Amino acid sequence: MKAVVVNQPGGADQLHVQNVEKPSPEKGEVLINVKTAAINRTDIISREGKSGYMNNPILGVEVAGEVVEAGEEANIPVGTRVMGLVNGGGYAEYAVMPADRAMVVPDKLSFEEAAAIPEVFLTAYQTLFWLGNLTKNETVLIHAGGSGVGTAAIQLARQLTNAKIITTAGSLEKLDYCHSLGADVGINYKEQDFAEEVLKATDNAGADVILDFIGASYWEKNLKSIAVDGRWVLIGVLGGSKVNDIELMSLMAKRVHLKGTLLTPRSDDYKKELTKDFAKHALPLFEKGKLKAIVDRVFPMEETGDAHRHMEANKNIGKIIVEME
Ligand code: NAP
Repeated sequence: MKAVVVNQPGGADQLHVQNVEKPSPEKGEVLINVKTAAINRTDIISREGKSGYMNNPILGVEVAGEVVEAGEEANIPVGTRVMGLVNGGGYAEYAVMPADRAMVVPDKLSFEEAAAIPEVFLTAYQTLFWLGNLTKNETVLIHAGGSGVGTAAIQLARQLTNAKIITTAGSLEKLDYCHSLGADVGINYKEQDFAEEVLKATDNAGADVILDFIGASYWEKNLKSIAVDGRWVLIGVLGGSKVNDIELMSLMAKRVHLKGTLLTPRSDDYKKELTKDFAKHALPLFEKGKLKAIVDRVFPMEETGDAHRHMEANKNIGKIIVEME
């Protein structure tokens, strides 16, 4: 089969289409004829050889396609349209996936839309509800509102709670899009002090939950923005991973719950349970048109390097998709 392979750890120019052996499903797995895969920041970190947790030489943690073979005890009929997380190997014509985390693609969604769902919606769902414990009448601050995870988080917070949603982004175009998805307050972090704006929007109370993709460069302002007893969930370090001069007293004074998480290295069991919970509470909302898969651009397999460059230039709103056929 054809797959996108990383020749040497490094830049996007290291991605090449090559012929590799087709995988076969083991017990509990299905083999999927991959129609579409989506690009994630975790793929970029793995491409650079920096993740330390991805052992598969073929990148790609999420796919959409058709089941072509089922291993022992994998009870999904051949021909079913599925989407979900894979343990690497997604940038290929065929990939294996544990059957207990394959989600049936809602009828109205294309394969391009389906591949835009698993990683960012599961991450946003886990972060908002399992780790952030966002409840009604609270305020959530969602950074990088135009990102894949940000666009998913804004929609989930809007549809599953009545929380006040504050979001940050680096352009008017992205902020307008965030408003169209349900954000109440948009802050251009390049022009405004987001901590001041969050305090203004919350009568100085601060945000109960922060989804933080940025890390170090936002540390001080996040600390000012968070409410007493707030939950601050760190899921990315786009703004650096080292913070100098941390004032621990302020964390204690506000009784901050600071939690970090990475989805890719989580166990198969965790991913199964997360998928099951998401499929029960959020997946039906795609069929009803209340949640949308946000597709920014679709690239052919041969141009996967350009797809990575597009993400690295921060150009996308929502997801970047690669067609594997
Ligand atoms: P994405 O679609 O590529 O969007 C990221 C956006 O963040 C960029 O377009 C840019 O938008 C903004 N940004 C980049 N560098 C920034 C900086 N230094 N300061 C402020 N904003 C910056 O990303 P994604 O795929 O949704 O992922 C978002 C983050 O979540 C990534 O860090 C990713 O690694 C992380 N993630 C974590 C997990 C986990 O389990 N921990 C799972 C999935 C994703 P602007 O134009 O607004 O600047």
